[in-house]
Amino acid sequence: MEEINKLNELHMEVARLRQIIDGTNIGTWEWNVQTGETRFNERWAQIIGYTLDEISPTNIDTWLNFAHPDDLAKSERLLNAHFDGHTPFYHCEIRMKHRDGTWVWVRDHGRVVTRNPEGLPEWIVGSHIDITQEKLEHIATQRLNKIASSVPGVIYEFEMDDDGQMAFPYASPGIVDIYGVTPEEAMEQVDEVFSAIHPADVEYVEKSILQSAQNLEPWVAEYRVELHGQTRWVSGYARPERLKNKTRWYGLIVDSTDTKKVSLKLEESQRRLKQAQTLAQLGHWEANTETGDLFWSPQIFEIFGFEPDSFQPSTKAFYDAVHPDDRKRVQASEEQAKLTGIQDVEHRIVRPDGTIRWVHEYAHVVPQRDNADSSVLIGTVQDITERKALEIRLREQSNTDALTQIFNRRYAMAFLKKLFNVNHARLNDNAECAVISFDIDYFKKVNDTYGHAIGDRALRLLAQTVKEVLRSDDVFARMGGEEFMIILPGTTLSEGYCLAERVRELVESTAISTRSCVTHITVTLAVASYSMNDSSVEDFYVRLDDGLYKGKREGRNRVVLVENERA
Ligand code: GH3
Ligand code: MG
Ligand code: MG
Repeated sequence: MEEINKLNELHMEVARLRQIIDGTNIGTWEWNVQTGETRFNERWAQIIGYTLDEISPTNIDTWLNFAHPDDLAKSERLLNAHFDGHTPFYHCEIRMKHRDGTWVWVRDHGRVVTRNPEGLPEWIVGSHIDITQEKLEHIATQRLNKIASSVPGVIYEFEMDDDGQMAFPYASPGIVDIYGVTPEEAMEQVDEVFSAIHPADVEYVEKSILQSAQNLEPWVAEYRVELHGQTRWVSGYARPERLKNKTRWYGLIVDSTDTKKVSLKLEESQRRLKQAQTLAQLGHWEANTETGDLFWSPQIFEIFGFEPDSFQPSTKAFYDAVHPDDRKRVQASEEQAKLTGIQDVEHRIVRPDGTIRWVHEYAHVVPQRDNADSSVLIGTVQDITERKALEIRLREQSNTDALTQIFNRRYAMAFLKKLFNVNHARLNDNAECAVISFDIDYFKKVNDTYGHAIGDRALRLLAQTVKEVLRSDDVFARMGGEEFMIILPGTTLSEGYCLAERVRELVESTAISTRSCVTHITVTLAVASYSMNDSSVEDFYVRLDDGLYKGKREGRNRVVLVENERA
């Protein structure tokens, strides 16, 4: 009787234990290491999505089939360590294949309970606990921690409640590099963090945080931090989120000292460039050939007289401003730019108020480094009005013809006038002065046949050749185009005639080489000596000109002697 009671008690004890186990949601297993016999409870099968019936009959292969192959080796190693008595328990975290194809993490825990007479393990009993959720969370946390400690700067969570209380619920280890405090210190002492901010920037940072809290727009700030006696620039970005009675930001602050240095330098050099451009009255523009975007620097607006606020930059505005008389030249330089990639032209512009300015335009194409398809046309425009005015004034004051380097019309006429006045004052019509005027024959044809450049060369060659047969007192001038004049002080009309004839022969016999052949030109000359009957230089000049036309009419390549008119 007592025996039966004991047995009953034992049964109840077992049932109670089972209830406890079922209540804890623990899978149980028993395994006879020697025979391979196993016993699993319902929960063991449930963890991997089955009923016990569905996987019965079970033996050790049931376990081996469901366990992750990569984890089995570790399990076996740990089992053996326990079997050999090195560890009091077998303990392993291992993946098992769930019915739905996913892997379930289980915490596998067991202990040998019986050994055979040889001391080898016989029965080992253990438990399975599903730790998948925990494991995944742990992996994710580990991953995030790794990221947080790998990125430069600090990743953080920051809160400010409606009373202005601030806190760092989280900060990654990088906060040490930014603020010189550990994550733990930051969490406990927000003031530590703020005291690292440069005194001059504290107000700015606080304001920017308040503003972000108010608008719920990202907090973006760049400010200085003083760390170990060194001033560093940091730049922060955080996204706010409104909670019940506080605002929370998730953000990142990085050290931007190096980039800030570069941008400060850039700002400085831009300021210098701007100053230099203002001083040089130099504007610049940039056109993206792909997008058509056009940028004008402020000086461009100033030079062209456009209102910077209301005027939209456009290529057309440039072109419209070009002085009508200079359009052809600008167009020609644009054509040339298509071939050479460089435009270089000086021209006038008419400003909206009607004033005229001279500008020097220089532009060239710059291929973009990061995009082979697009290029940028960069140009400068310099106001050269003053320089141009000086140039014109200098040219006006000059006595020399630019092409031939002999005297110009201005000088010849002034010289003639002076002689004329002097002689008139002396009332001495015996003062002799022969003057030769000549014009190249059919010069248009030379240009048409060989080109303007050869025409120019012929003009220079003629000037050089003729100059060689003249005296130093003679005034040899290019009057314009292909008309020349030689003033021969102290020379009689007949002496003048001889010289004219010599010039005619000389020109006729001078070879002018063109690219394809050798050619010649001839000249028609008129020679006169002024008389008291010429009331003015202009009158005299007309007489000379009439003579020249006579020579042309009579067949060219000849000298016409213009007789003095008798009073
Ligand atoms: P004519 O015998 O009647 O003088 O015939 P022409 O062709 O010489 O006629 P005209 O004197 O009227 O024409 C002057 C031409 O000279 C016009 C122009 O083509 C050319 N010419 C004028 N100045 C220059 C110059 O600086 N360089 C060159 N290459 N040609 C010039
Ligand atoms: Mg002529
Ligand atoms: Mg001519």
